[in-house]
Amino acid sequence: MRFDVITIFPAMFEPVLSTSLLGKARARGLLAVHVHDLRRWADPPQHRTDDYSYGGGPGMLMKPEPIVRAVEALRTDDSWVVLMSPQVPPLTQASVLTLAARLHLIVICGRYEGVDDRVRDLVVDEEVSVGDYVLAGGELPAMVLIEAASRLVPGVVGSAASLRDESHAHGVLEYPQYTRPEVFKGKPVPPTLLSGDHSKVARWRQASALRRTLDRRPDLLREENLSADQHRLLAEFESGEAPSTDA
Ligand code: SAH
Repeated sequence: MRFDVITIFPAMFEPVLSTSLLGKARARGLLAVHVHDLRRWADPPQHRTDDYSYGGGPGMLMKPEPIVRAVEALRTDDSWVVLMSPQVPPLTQASVLTLAARLHLIVICGRYEGVDDRVRDLVVDEEVSVGDYVLAGGELPAMVLIEAASRLVPGVVGSAASLRDESHAHGVLEYPQYTRPEVFKGKPVPPTLLSGDHSKVARWRQASALRRTLDRRPDLLREENLSADQHRLLAEFESGEAPSTDA
């Protein structure tokens, strides 16, 4: 998968892109991320990328010409052009999965009051928001998109199983997990997890994932929508040891 990012702050990206999972995926050739300084496509001698907003009002707006030139220079037949924007419903794991299936994403980062609206009509295939709040620029949202999508590129995350059980992979949150020590500040690890009985552990995990999702995210899962099997699993679990579901 390849990303081309268009930004006026390219320096923001390198530390994130070279650390941990993303750094390794790039080193292994699973992922290519090229970050471009928008000023390269702005008119000399000043290389301005912003201007006043027609109609008045506070703040500056990003000019359309450099952005459209940048996209035209970077676009191929495989490209999907994304504008980072707070004006659409926020990303979900499902929408990240769809984006991650693309071979080439060109990501435009806005700044100031945003981008001249004609950019959307002329070159943007999709707007992507990271949440219903406003940031100062599209750079952090672009990094969120790159990291979330890259994790779904085959081979980037070592074990496919760790993606399978993850929160939001299939409508439930992940089950609670514990590592050593067995007792910490008086709190023991649930005994089932120490039992060595794989099917008991699997049932405990399924049930605790359901319990946690019902408690914390009733918008994702409602008790009345559970299958008969899931009700049984939950009842069995609740008659035994229950993990903490405090948010
Ligand atoms: N005036 C605009 C906000 C501009 S914020 C409005 O009210 O809609 C400046 C830039 O930051 C945006 O162009 C966008 O690229 C980026 N940005 C801000 N919040 C974002 C979010 N939640 N998701 C994605 N991009 C965002």
